[in-house]
Amino acid sequence: MHNSYDVLIVGGGPGGVAAAYLCHKRGLSHLIIESGKGVFQGIANTYPEGKNVYPSKPKENPEPFLVEELRPPDKPVTVEKYIQYVQHFVQHEGLNVMTETEFEDIETGREFLKVHTSRGTFKARRVLLAFGSSIPKELTVYGDAKMVAKGLDDPKKFVGVRTLVIGGGNSAADVIISILKEKRNASDKEPVYWAHVAETFDVNKETAQRLGEEILLGGNIRLLPGATPRIGEVDDEGVDRLVIRVSEEKIEGGIERYHAMSFPMKNVIACIGSQGPTSIFDRIGVQTIACTEGICQVAKEGDRLLLLTAEYETTRKGVYAIGGAISPSYMRISKGAIVEEKHPNLIYTALNDAHHVVNAIAEKLQKKEK
Ligand SMILES: Cc1cc2nc3c(=O)[nH]c(=O)nc-3n(C[C@H](O)[C@H](O)[C@H](O)COP(=O)(O)OP(=O)(O)OC[C@H]3O[C@@H](n4cnc5c(N)ncnc54)[C@H](O)[C@@H]3O)c2cc1C
Repeated sequence: MHNSYDVLIVGGGPGGVAAAYLCHKRGLSHLIIESGKGVFQGIANTYPEGKNVYPSKPKENPEPFLVEELRPPDKPVTVEKYIQYVQHFVQHEGLNVMTETEFEDIETGREFLKVHTSRGTFKARRVLLAFGSSIPKELTVYGDAKMVAKGLDDPKKFVGVRTLVIGGGNSAADVIISILKEKRNASDKEPVYWAHVAETFDVNKETAQRLGEEILLGGNIRLLPGATPRIGEVDDEGVDRLVIRVSEEKIEGGIERYHAMSFPMKNVIACIGSQGPTSIFDRIGVQTIACTEGICQVAKEGDRLLLLTAEYETTRKGVYAIGGAISPSYMRISKGAIVEEKHPNLIYTALNDAHHVVNAIAEKLQKKEK
């Protein structure tokens, strides 16, 4: 496998897949890196089962859909059908996707940008950030907890395994329900531990009902309220482990006494919510601007917006950003001024951004070659 591309695309959602397709059509080599199991993982994770996908388009925007091939149909289809269509499309067009690969950082090389990922480093002439608006939060512990999964890819992996799920909300409960179901089908009695930093868990009625059903059907679940993940460490046998304190008390003389459990990290899933992409923008050193009073119409005071040229290039040369990652608004450098640009988080916007950015990149790269 060669590891140098004209365009490296981070994220295989509508923006990333459209960009890959357009690169392919224009003869630019490309690679999508996608942290999930397949393309459109972001959509698969966030849309409720059976939800219809609409070809929504902001009224005030005169442009039609510019990537018809990926446009949701006028007669809405379910999210499952739309994802299935896109998976076939990606295969049929021979687009280059590397799944289960997490973006880490970008380093500027002499001729290429070096993109560091969980599966090694790739070289690219241009990098397109299309990782959407919802980035799973990382566990913060002393040491390294990168091995901890942030979602459930395949519940079968946890059959026969004592599993720890961290997080107190619906997404943690949904993960537990899926694992319990799988364990029930395999007559596996190994428990699922459910840990949360707070003393109470907070799930909606419908999720609580489904969880209750699993418990009544024999699901073995052990609650760990008030438990705090503390340390990521490697044990004597080279196994990455997460140490979580499950109870603690202060005794005289500044001494604390606590009980802790240690799980192999591969058996831990942390569902602790998601955040916007600002922390990634900070990590890779692209400039954002904080909205001050009266400056922004869409963003709130204090929100930090990414600074982009009219061609979606960030302040880091050769690094572009599109789609949900720059929604609901960004700061656009236009005719010497900086203005807030409204950017609704829609499939339409992600597809059209991809069209504009790939045109701009292709022109630049082809000019360079002449
Ligand atoms: C419940 C719901 C319903 C919606 N319904 C509609 C609708 O009907 N019509 C419509 O037009 N819009 C709808 N939207 C909005 C639409 O889904 C988004 O605007 C669109 O998905 C944005 O596309 P994107 O490619 O920018 O980002 P995403 O679709 O979020 O794709 C980003 C991809 O990047 C991957 N990724 C993230 N971080 C990393 C990383 N560090 N390394 C590698 N990969 C990474 C993610 O796994 C994901 O697959 C809906 C949104 C929600 C939440």
